[in-house]
Amino acid sequence: MIGDQSHSHIENDPEYMGLNVNEGIVPLPSVSEDSVKRFLKNKKKRTLSVAQYVEGILNGDITILSQAVTLVESSKPEHQEIAQEIIVKCLPFSGNSVRIGITGVPGVGKSTFIEAMGKHITSKGEKLAVLAIDPSSERTKGSILGDKTRMEDLSTDPLAYIRPSPSAGSLGGVARKTRETIILCEAAGYNNIFIETVGVGQSETAVHSMVDFFLLLMLAGAGDELQGIKRGIMEMADAITINKADGNNIEKAGLARIQYQNALHLFPATESGWKPKVLTCSAYMKTGISEIWDTIDEYMTMNKGSNYFQHRRNEQSKFWMYETINEQLRNNFYQNEKIKTIMEETEVKVLKEEISSFVAAKKLLDIYDQIRRNI
Ligand code: GDP
Repeated sequence: MIGDQSHSHIENDPEYMGLNVNEGIVPLPSVSEDSVKRFLKNKKKRTLSVAQYVEGILNGDITILSQAVTLVESSKPEHQEIAQEIIVKCLPFSGNSVRIGITGVPGVGKSTFIEAMGKHITSKGEKLAVLAIDPSSERTKGSILGDKTRMEDLSTDPLAYIRPSPSAGSLGGVARKTRETIILCEAAGYNNIFIETVGVGQSETAVHSMVDFFLLLMLAGAGDELQGIKRGIMEMADAITINKADGNNIEKAGLARIQYQNALHLFPATESGWKPKVLTCSAYMKTGISEIWDTIDEYMTMNKGSNYFQHRRNEQSKFWMYETINEQLRNNFYQNEKIKTIMEETEVKVLKEEISSFVAAKKLLDIYDQIRRNI
């Protein structure tokens, strides 16, 4: 026992005069049972009605917006139900924004760039929401958006709203949640939306399918292989920016700009007729930022004039409807308990070549059909 220490410790023996072990105190629990109860009670009280959520969002209340986004991200059916009601009511107030996708490999300077560009936007008095698609849960640590201190200025800017990526779930699920979050942010008056993703995987396609403008950040001197950028991603870009064009890197960045511009000429013409631009910037020194913003502005003016803007948004809406159906059907099927059991047995049979893959798939789908009919 802590109280008895003075007697049992060898240091307290007269032989070791001058040494003394003080008595300790019994540590108090850091959270008392009472305070937990109070917290839970207050939390309960704070549950809002759908109308209150919608009103808060339309008033631009960041706390309420964040709570609504949490509902969107939740996988609990009761949360999803409220979230969907909120989304439907916010839809008429959404859409009036510029949605910009920003991608590039880790280290290229995305968070530094978002901060520089973000401040450029908010300095004009405009609001900006920064969202992310990052389905890998491993990246929560060290993630730009998970670690807000890396966007210190922007995260304390009252005109900016930064929301880390919903970390759990499949890419499709995470992307859908991000798309729904866009609707809520727009209804809350955020007329500029950034969606950030790491430029190494599948998530660019998902981001591309929900933004008006897709910006790829690159570095000079690092081969495309090294940057892990696939040709398909370059083809999706409406602009490429060579970042870190500062110090003795300026010249190399200029050369890279010309190389990429030449490479883009070889790509097929875009549907809108827009010619993707290659620019240079230093997110760190905040140079070249306004030129990129002017390019985005030019793109928006051109595409709104030609109606391509609306056409693309319509296509995206259709795409997300089908995506959501596919995801739901897949989930229903794979998460069905009976199917799960039969799936394992069937897999063994396929591996033993007792039945073919196609027969196995048909059999499972037939069984699922049967289960659905009996519900
Ligand atoms: P992310 O992983 O793509 O988000 O990259 P970060 O924004 O975290 O930047 C990675 C590193 O590059 C950091 O040390 C930044 O300070 C640095 N960095 C970002 N932008 C620039 C730039 O324009 N110039 C220079 N010299 N360094 C930069």
